[in-house]
Amino acid sequence: MHVLSAASFGPSQVMTITLQDFSGSPAPAGGIRRLTVPLVQLQATYGRLLRSGAKILGVTNGLTSTAAMPESGPAGSSAPVSPQPAQSSGKPANKPAGKAPAKAAHANVPVNLYKPKAPFVGKVISNDSLLKEGAIGRVNHVTMDLSGGDLRYVEGQSIGIIPDGLADNGKPHKIRLYSIASTRHGDNLAGDTVSLCVRQLQYEKDGERINGVCSTFLCDVPPGAPVKITGPVGKEMLLPEDEDANVIMLATGTGIAPMRAYLRRMFDPGERARNPGYAFRGKAWLFMGVPTTPNLLYEEEFQSYLSAYPDNFRYTKAISREQKNSEGGRMYIQHRVAEYADEIFNLINLDSTHLYMCGLRGMEPGIDEAMITAAAARGLEWKTLRPQLKKAGRWHVETY
Ligand SMILES: Cc1cc2nc3c(=O)[nH]c(=O)nc-3n(C[C@H](O)[C@H](O)[C@H](O)COP(=O)(O)OP(=O)(O)OC[C@H]3O[C@@H](n4cnc5c(N)ncnc54)[C@H](O)[C@@H]3O)c2cc1C
Repeated sequence: MHVLSAASFGPSQVMTITLQDFSGSPAPAGGIRRLTVPLVQLQATYGRLLRSGAKILGVTNGLTSTAAMPESGPAGSSAPVSPQPAQSSGKPANKPAGKAPAKAAHANVPVNLYKPKAPFVGKVISNDSLLKEGAIGRVNHVTMDLSGGDLRYVEGQSIGIIPDGLADNGKPHKIRLYSIASTRHGDNLAGDTVSLCVRQLQYEKDGERINGVCSTFLCDVPPGAPVKITGPVGKEMLLPEDEDANVIMLATGTGIAPMRAYLRRMFDPGERARNPGYAFRGKAWLFMGVPTTPNLLYEEEFQSYLSAYPDNFRYTKAISREQKNSEGGRMYIQHRVAEYADEIFNLINLDSTHLYMCGLRGMEPGIDEAMITAAAARGLEWKTLRPQLKKAGRWHVETY
């Protein structure tokens, strides 16, 4: 498979368009031509070719036209979006979009191994703050031991937690879902732990401070304590097995949990050693929104990936209470999306690109607005494009 060069994430990246019936000049035998263009000119060239009557067969990263077919695996593949300004991976441009390939590939992903009536009882191994001094609120990384059970999971799934105690109605508390922040191998790589990134919910009601039941339970639970766990659940946020995929991640606050798992799978040295069949070579671009610098989560891990994989990992922060957007207001994640819209849309044009959004539900309208504006500037309608991406299994959203 093609490996992108150091410069290839920037404006100097080139793309190869494979086309047929190009009437602008004599075609070689078979009518198949290959045209290499800078990434920044891809959209314009693509439009020109279409207008000239050419039939686009595929668009691939780099100088080669070798197809980078997504590998099949338990956690995903992608289907082409159609119609789209560009296609990649050498698959026919006119192949109808559909959910079937992604669904089939997800068939082996474990779900509901433990149900609320018979939860797995794990044991807390560690429970540490993820915040630095001066941060707002409380966010903890909680790791639990799963040994002795059969609770398996893959990156992008969630588990349910049943907090200790009884609800106001005298019955056991209902489960709350939490995105898994560890890879399938767990933080210790032994495959018998699960980690969560939990923000304590706190709000004021009638002048009284209310603490969320489960988030407070999880932030307070000490090492050694038992915790009732259900699941795993979810196939919405699975990572494609394609090692050459481009993965754009939009996270706010604890929405970083699944992204932290993806990034560990991609770049952590121990993980890479554990995954001989998955050596990520694509582009991973994390957009992270937090209120203040001390609220940045897993910062040291991400910085180490930036040092070790500068060609494959990109990290863009929106620190709302410290940075200003172009209009002088607070810098939220949607402002960063708007700022980098050109590059984001060039990547979206490739059917090897997946987008993930995770965090509080309130982030969705802002992102949508940024995408509507960015799409419109390119003659596209986000309202049409988003469902196409979703249908192709490339737009992944988990907000709560
Ligand atoms: C798929 C999924 C993944 C999730 N992943 C994570 C994660 O990784 N990390 C994480 O921390 N959370 C995550 N959550 C959220 C988590 O499930 C809980 O909802 C959260 O921790 C709060 O639960 P709690 O028991 O502490 O609050 P509860 O005691 O259940 O209180 C919540 C209730 O309080 C009320 N309330 C909340 N805010 C206010 C307010 N400002 N004013 C008045 N009333 C209010 C609402 O009625 C709300 O339903 C996820 C949710 C889903 C669905």
